[in-house]
Amino acid sequence: MDADVIVVGGAVAGGAVANAFGSLGVRTLLVEKVEREVHSTRGDLLHPPTLALLDRWGVLADLHADGALPIDKLAVSHSRRGRIAEFPTAAVDDGPAGRTLAVPHDRIEAVLYECALSWPSVSAQRGVVTGVVRDANGRVDGVRVRTHGANDETELQAKLVVGCDGSQSMVRRALGISAQPEQYDHEQIIIGGEGPTELPAALHWYLDEIGRVCVVSRPRGGFRILLTLPLGERGDLLRLPDPALHEYLVGRFPALTPLRFRKTDAHLYRLFRQVADRFWAPGVALVGDSAHTTHPAGATGMSLAISDAARLADRVAPLLLAGAPSDKIDSALSAYDEERRPAALAAVEANHLQALRLWQSDLFLEPDAYAQAVDPAGNWGAGGAGWGADPGALAFTGRG
Ligand SMILES: Cc1cc2nc3c(=O)[nH]c(=O)nc-3n(C[C@H](O)[C@H](O)[C@H](O)COP(=O)(O)OP(=O)(O)OC[C@H]3O[C@@H](n4cnc5c(N)ncnc54)[C@H](O)[C@@H]3O)c2cc1C
Repeated sequence: MDADVIVVGGAVAGGAVANAFGSLGVRTLLVEKVEREVHSTRGDLLHPPTLALLDRWGVLADLHADGALPIDKLAVSHSRRGRIAEFPTAAVDDGPAGRTLAVPHDRIEAVLYECALSWPSVSAQRGVVTGVVRDANGRVDGVRVRTHGANDETELQAKLVVGCDGSQSMVRRALGISAQPEQYDHEQIIIGGEGPTELPAALHWYLDEIGRVCVVSRPRGGFRILLTLPLGERGDLLRLPDPALHEYLVGRFPALTPLRFRKTDAHLYRLFRQVADRFWAPGVALVGDSAHTTHPAGATGMSLAISDAARLADRVAPLLLAGAPSDKIDSALSAYDEERRPAALAAVEANHLQALRLWQSDLFLEPDAYAQAVDPAGNWGAGGAGWGADPGALAFTGRG
């Protein structure tokens, strides 16, 4: 065996799995195909139940040291009426995991990865996993990897393979597990930049007669603007040279004038939701977007991946350390699926409903109703549990 656990993909899900197993002393090999970070503008928000898990692995202290920004407000303003509502975010406690944090996505991935490699039982390899390898009984017992610069593929063996390779997961497809993507009728443009936001540590929605944008504070005077457009209607917005994008947004929302950003700071994301039919097969588990992809409206994709990782390791690591036979490991994988699939379905559905309210309906034409939908105490969000909660983590606490 080259490791007890081989993790395919080293972003949020893979980094979390490596920390979860590494912190328990399990020999873990992380295989990641890219040399550098490529998802820098995706979600930044990590909620208290997730932060408690990261604290367990020593990752949270490093995120704070990296300059994480606690988010203290959700707010709604209107182009003619000015500020309509401000909602303080509830703090679970005064500790480092007490309040939702904003950390740039690339830093979350980097800190998870660095922390994972600090565990003595964790190592990493750069390479593309091209397929899974099975034993004589059809149970997966490894992967094929093409290392950078090499023409040949090598086989690596492990007692467990964990697919953390994102929504287009090669591991999931190699197992024949289906996942039906349901596309949204809008796409999201995320624009990163620098400059003073009206509220220094907030998610701030701005409404007008055309639609809505959301400005999310980032550490060190940064921000992200979230803008959705109906599919196929982005037109010239991202084709025209600077300062067309800035002028467009400031023309609609003069409060954004101090924010500095350019066309090259804008990234376009196609949005869809999907939940795989199964999160496991003999010898394999799926974690993160390879198992479930959600609309970002509830800011829970990373939270789900991280709580998946914690529950998988809690169930399987003791068996691996004890040298348990394959059938015992597979029973634990089946139990992981029974716990995590309903949690993911609940989160994906809750985020879908919030996406319909905030991003896909005409609710912006009724600013007071829109503010009610944003209210973190208004029973929206993951599993109807309100802002910042993660049904996966709630299920975990409930059954722990
Ligand atoms: C616009 C947007 C905003 C979001 N906002 C938030 C938010 O605020 N909060 C939140 O919690 N979530 C948010 N999310 C969701 C969150 O970003 C994802 O759920 C999460 O990052 C998924 O991580 P992952 O590791 O599962 O997948 P990915 O990030 O897709 O990582 C997969 C990794 O696997 C590697 N890989 C793929 N194939 C192979 C292979 N064959 N061999 C080796 N390596 C491979 C890739 O290079 C990559 O590094 C948002 C998503 C979007 C699109």
